[in-house]
Amino acid sequence: MNDILPDVSARWQYFEGTVKQLLNSYGYREIRMPIVEQTALFKRSIGEVTDIVEKEMYTFEDRNGDSLTLRPEGTAGCVRACEEHGLTYNQQQRLYYMGPMFRHERPQKGRYRQFHQIGVETFGMTGPDIDAELILLSARLWRQLGILSHLTLELNTLGSSEARQAYRTALVAYLEQHLDQLDDDSRRRLSSNPLRILDSKDESTRQVLQGAPSFYDYIDAESLEHFNRLKAMLDDAGVDYVVNPTLVRGLDYYGKTVFEWTTTALGAQGTVCAGGRYDGLVEQLGGKPTPAVGFAMGVERLILLLETLEAFPATLDQHIDVYLLAVGQDIDHQALLLAERLRSELPELRLQTHCGGGSFKSQMKKADRSGAAIALLLGEDEVAQGQVSIKYLREARDQVSVALGDLASYLKENTAL
Ligand code: ATP
Ligand code: MG
Repeated sequence: MNDILPDVSARWQYFEGTVKQLLNSYGYREIRMPIVEQTALFKRSIGEVTDIVEKEMYTFEDRNGDSLTLRPEGTAGCVRACEEHGLTYNQQQRLYYMGPMFRHERPQKGRYRQFHQIGVETFGMTGPDIDAELILLSARLWRQLGILSHLTLELNTLGSSEARQAYRTALVAYLEQHLDQLDDDSRRRLSSNPLRILDSKDESTRQVLQGAPSFYDYIDAESLEHFNRLKAMLDDAGVDYVVNPTLVRGLDYYGKTVFEWTTTALGAQGTVCAGGRYDGLVEQLGGKPTPAVGFAMGVERLILLLETLEAFPATLDQHIDVYLLAVGQDIDHQALLLAERLRSELPELRLQTHCGGGSFKSQMKKADRSGAAIALLLGEDEVAQGQVSIKYLREARDQVSVALGDLASYLKENTAL
C-alpha cells in the first residue's frame, strides 16, 4: 500500500481530471460507493473459485459478527447500489467511480495491495453500440493523454452462458487427455474454472492449449452477430484491435464482449484497462434482468506508463505562479493583505505568501525552490512608495517596480493567466 506524496499527487490530479472531463463530455455521471461491502456480495458476483475470492480478499468480521470485505473491485458494489436505489429500474445509466481497491496479492511493480481504479459501468443497453462507445471513449482518452500508440486493444467474445457451457465440456474433455502436461494451477481449475486455463502463462500448458478446441466453433449466433457488429463499428471508427481468443478475464460475470488495453512498456503488468459485458449480473444479484457493460482502468499502471513515456505536461511540476516575499518589520501584515487582494482580483493566480519572516536572502531561496516564475518583493521601501518589486526567477529579465494599484493588470499581462 502506498502513500501518494505531494510531488506526485499533481500527476494523479492531472490524470483523474482528464478522465473526469472526458467522461462528463460523454454524459457519464459519478457514483460513490462505500469501500466495504458484505463479503457475500463479492462471492456471489466475482465467483467463489476465482483468484480474487479464493485468495486475495481482505475479509474481516465487524463488531456485529457480520463478514465484511474491503472491495477488490467496483462493479459488484455499483450493481448493489443501483439495485438498492432503483437506478436501473426501467432506465438506462452511464456511471463512473474512482477510488481505492484492495487485493492481497504479491506486491511488485504495477501490482499493489491497495490500488486505484476508475471504473465505468453502463446499464440497460444491449449493445453493441454501447460496447463500442466505451471502447471509443477509452481510445479518445489515450489519444488525449498522448499514449494511444503505445497501447493495443485486445478483443474477444465469451458468447452466451449456454455456449460457454458447451465449450467448457469440450475443453475439459480435451484437457483431461493431457493431464500430465498441465501445471498444478490448471489441473486444479479443470474442475472449478476451466476457461481460466486458457489464460495460463505456463509453457507446457500453453503447448497443450495449441491443440484445444476453439470457442468460435461453439459460439451462439446472437453473440457472434453482436461481436461482428462491434468489430464493424470499431473498423469504421478507425480503432485498431487484435482478436485474442484466449482473453477470458478473471471474473465470472462476463459474457459476450470482453476487452483489454495492454502495453509492452511496463513489463509483466501490461494490462492498464479491462472490461466487458455482464448481462447476467444484475439478475444474479436479485434485480430484474438488465444488460450491462463496463470497464476499469488501473490508475497506478497508467501513471507509471505516462511517467515511462514522459507524457506528463512539463508544467505539472510548477505548482505556483508567484511567490510573495515580505521583508522587514511588520511587512508580513501588509503582505497578507496584498495577497488577499490579488487573489480577489485574479482568481486563477496561484500565489504563495512567504510566512515566518527571515532575511531577504533566505526568502529568495525559498521563492526559487518553490518553482514560481515570479517573486514579488514587498519591503519597507516598497511599502513607503506604494510599490512592489518584481523579480523574474526563470528568465533573464530586469527587475521592475509596479505601483500597487497596477499590480493585478501587470501580472495578467506578464504571466500565462
Ligand atoms: P491482472 O491480470 O493484471 O491481475 P486483473 O484481471 O486482476 O489484472 P481487473 O480485475 O480486470 O484486473 O482490474 C482492472 C485493472 O485494474 C487491471 O487491468 C489493472 O490495470 C488494475 N489492477 C488490477 N489489480 C491490480 C493491483 N493489484 N495493483 C495495481 N493495479 C491493479
Ligand atoms: Mg489479478
